[in-house]
Formats: sequence, C-alpha cells, structure tokens
Amino acid sequence: MTDNTVAVLGAGMVGVTTALELQRRGMRVTLMDRRAPGLETSYGNAGVIARSSLMPFNHPKLWGTLPSLLRNQSTGFRYSPSFVASNLGWALGFVGRARQSVFEETTAALDDLIRLSTAEHRRLLGEVNALHRLRDNGWLFLYRSAQAFDAPGAQLGRETMARFGIATQALNAGELRDLEPVLQPVFAKALWIRDSCSVNSPGAVVKAYADAFVARGGQLQTCELRTLRSSGEGRWQIVDGHGNAQEFGRVVIALGPWSQKFMAELGVDIPMGFERGYHMHYAPGSAENSLQRPIYDTAGGYVLSPMEQGLRLSTGVELNRCDAPMKPVQLDITEAAARQALPLGQRLEHPLWMGRRPTLPDSRPVIDEMPGRPGLWLAFGHQHIGFSTGPGTAALLAAMMLGDKQLPMNPHPFRASRFL
Ligand SMILES: Cc1cc2nc3c(=O)[nH]c(=O)nc-3n(C[C@H](O)[C@H](O)[C@H](O)COP(=O)(O)OP(=O)(O)OC[C@H]3O[C@@H](n4cnc5c(N)ncnc54)[C@H](O)[C@@H]3O)c2cc1C
Repeated sequence: MTDNTVAVLGAGMVGVTTALELQRRGMRVTLMDRRAPGLETSYGNAGVIARSSLMPFNHPKLWGTLPSLLRNQSTGFRYSPSFVASNLGWALGFVGRARQSVFEETTAALDDLIRLSTAEHRRLLGEVNALHRLRDNGWLFLYRSAQAFDAPGAQLGRETMARFGIATQALNAGELRDLEPVLQPVFAKALWIRDSCSVNSPGAVVKAYADAFVARGGQLQTCELRTLRSSGEGRWQIVDGHGNAQEFGRVVIALGPWSQKFMAELGVDIPMGFERGYHMHYAPGSAENSLQRPIYDTAGGYVLSPMEQGLRLSTGVELNRCDAPMKPVQLDITEAAARQALPLGQRLEHPLWMGRRPTLPDSRPVIDEMPGRPGLWLAFGHQHIGFSTGPGTAALLAAMMLGDKQLPMNPHPFRASRFL
C-alpha cells in the first residue's frame, strides 16, 4: 500500500480502537470527532463486557412477548409509534429476523466478536495502565419469580449460553444474598454470568485509549464532519462543517448512531433503529455496603452498575428518532423498581444523559469495505454491545483493510452487502 493515510470518523469506542489498531499496524491515522473522545454513546453505557450479550433482542422467543411489548407499557421497552410508522422497513426487518436460522448465525457471529474483543480489551487496558478499571466478577440477571426464571426467553438464553460454553450459575434467593448482601429479598432466582467482566467508567476507558493513540503520534482533530467525496485515483476528501476538505487514502465511518445520517449524505440508505437509553448516577453506600458487580433486573427493566461516579442506573430501550427530544419516562419507572431492590441514594447527575444504541435489522454491526467504493470502510451498528465489541471490530477491520491472509474471525456475518 503506497498511501498509508487513513481518517477514522467518530471517536467513540469503535472509532478510537479502530484508530489505535490501524496505527499499531503502521498506518498514519487521523481521528476526527466534533467532541472529545468517548463523550457520546460510549460514555454513558453500563460498562458490561459479557459473553451473554450474544443473545440479540430479536431472538425467536420474541414472538411470544411481542403482543405485550406492542402495548407500549413495558418498563424495558417503549417505542414511538411515529418512528415505527416512518421506519417500517427497519421495524419489520428487525422483527422478521427473530427466527431460528438468523438467530443461529447472529449468536455465532456475536460470540466470535465478543471473545475477540474481550481479549483485545485486556491487552489494551494493560497497555494504557487501566486494568484497575476492570472487574472480573461477572454480572447478574435477576428474576422476581420462579415463573420469570422459567419464561421461554430466559430459558432460550440459558440454553444458548450453555451451547456456547459460557460459564453461568443459577442462584436461589439465599445464594444471591451471600453474593450481593446489599440486595433486598425481592428476587426469587438469579443467573450469575461468570464469563463476563465490567469496567468502572466506560468514558474513562475510551479516553485512556484515545490518549494512548495521541501519545503514539496519532492526530486527533475536533471538527463537525459534513460529508466526503471521492477525489479520484482511489483517494477520499473529508469535508467539514466549514466546507474545508482534507484528503486521505482510506476512510473509516464509525459515527455510531449518526452513521445513518452521514451515509444518507452519500446517497446511501442504511436501515438503522435507535434504541435510546438514559442513565442516572446515585450516591453509593460504603464500598462493603454496595453492589459488587452489575445487575440486570429483568422485571424492573434496568441495569445497575457500580461506577466511579456512583451507582449507574441505565434504562432499557426507547425506540425513537436519533435526535428526538428526551422523554425519560422509563428512568422514573425503573428508578422506583430499583429502589425496591436496594437503597439508592439521591440522584447525582444533571443534566440527564441519553445515548442511542444503533441497531441494524439483524443485530449485527457492519464491519466491511463499502461495495463499489474502494477505500471507504464501515464500522457501525453495534447495538447494545459496542462498548464491548469496539476492539474486535478494530482487529477485524484492520486485518481486512491490510489484506491479511488470515483474519482473526469470520467476516461474513458482518458484510456490508447485507443492507447495501
Ligand atoms: C443505556 C445504554 C447502556 C449500554 N450498555 C452497554 C454495555 O453495558 N456494554 C456494551 O458493550 N455496550 C453498551 N451499550 C452500547 C454501546 O454504548 C454502544 O454500542 C457504543 O457506545 C457505540 O459506540 P460507537 O463508537 O459506535 O458510537 P459513539 O460512542 O456514539 O461514537 C460516535 C461518535 O461520532 C461522533 N459524531 C457523530 N456525528 C458526527 C459528525 N457529524 N461530526 C463529527 N463527529 C460526529 C460523536 O460525537 C461520537 O463521539 C449501551 C448503550 C446505552 C445507550
């Protein structure tokens, strides 16, 4: 490759780790974002890196719960009818893929991506002296009744995890109390996903990775990105909000939920749903009187994770336009449910934080070169697991871009031609 310049657009977890990996592989990398690295979706998430996340939301047992989800009263899932009506293609494509054959392909693909990413996270956290942020004690799915534990979706989850060799342990109420004494006795059963870890500040992890990229000679530019155009001879011009253009040999689009809008500027329609979620921090109790690991209250519809900033409650899904005004109804409802589970202190964060999980119809990201546009690479659509899977995305994309004979994982499930 004669021209080794590459621009990575977007400095969330996906863009930052892609920039780092391409730099490690000898490329001259410029990372561009309108904000400092890791301040959007990659900042406010629950910080869980879990093999259990191979289960997509649109699994085959979704059909059984769909009628109740459509009533739009669930704590964990709400939708804007007008968003769904104007994105019917995406919505039908998403629900239509809740079938066994797609599920088989998606779970295998996501398991590969999560395993590769976890190994890469460990390497990177070590390199940037941030291993102290990593907790290696799993996470917990909590069930308020035995029926909930035996529900078809929960059973499918356990069977799938067993099939992939993911270490889990079912707990009764007493065993749960021994593991997390701070929890009130409102949970009848729990599943401890032992094959998972979590971090105590996702934003700080992205920042540490971005700092390493700059310290190793990478260029970080702050600018609003408007579009890009081919400048001929296989090179690409990036145009910023002031109309200024810069030329690169390669470009990677890693703009998370905003990738759809950016691709639309290029005349390409990407079917993407925005699974918005809110978070709030609460004053934690003393260290020995607080949660030791993240929990997912399956009925309450929230995840609570111990963070540097306090206990972080993050809500489930609000399906809506990417930039529609905030509507944090689920935060109020889930906060009430969480207060039944453990003593939460006062709210600590203003203004409120919201993120958008960018989701493609088959719940798999695109990690590929764009068909018909050599040098233009795509890395977006990481739904609920982009904090975990940025580093694996980076390793696969770099290997493909640099023409490695042996790729670190099967690229086929992530090909762009699925939707383009
Ligand atoms: C509530 C919640 C909880 C979650 N929990 C987890 C979890 O526990 N584990 C997990 O793995 N994942 C989790 N996720 C998902 C995860 O956060 C996302 O999948 C991931 O952060 C996406 O990363 P990204 O780099 O693709 O996007 P982002 O982090 O959103 O990065 C995109 C970047 O592009 C920039 N940008 C966009 N448009 C422009 C433009 N025009 N010009 C310049 N810059 C631009 C933005 O400023 C931003 O920095 C959660 C998400 C939410 C909302």
